[in-house]
Amino acid sequence: MQIDLISLDDLEKDNKIYIKGISLVGSVKLDYVTGKHVSFIVEGEESKHNVMYFLEKTGEKRWQCDCKWYTLQSKTCSHIIAVNLAIKKSILKV
Ligand SMILES: [Zn+2]
Repeated sequence: MQIDLISLDDLEKDNKIYIKGISLVGSVKLDYVTGKHVSFIVEGEESKHNVMYFLEKTGEKRWQCDCKWYTLQSKTCSHIIAVNLAIKKSILKV
């Protein structure tokens, strides 16, 4: 499946969220795939979050997470970064 990854170069490398995302790369699992979206699970030490990728949306709106950070700020969170990095590094096959 073709997944449009977020341009991670745009994110500050020393950004706290980015660094947290890197630490979660190994915790990403593919949940399920349908014709309209892909569901991922990111299970950290203290929390478990559901990241969704919508095939019909465009740009960064394609990515959504159920965590508080994303819900309140509507910004790319560490879980979305973790999924993007896992796919980019071929740790996770989609
Ligand atoms: Zn999140």
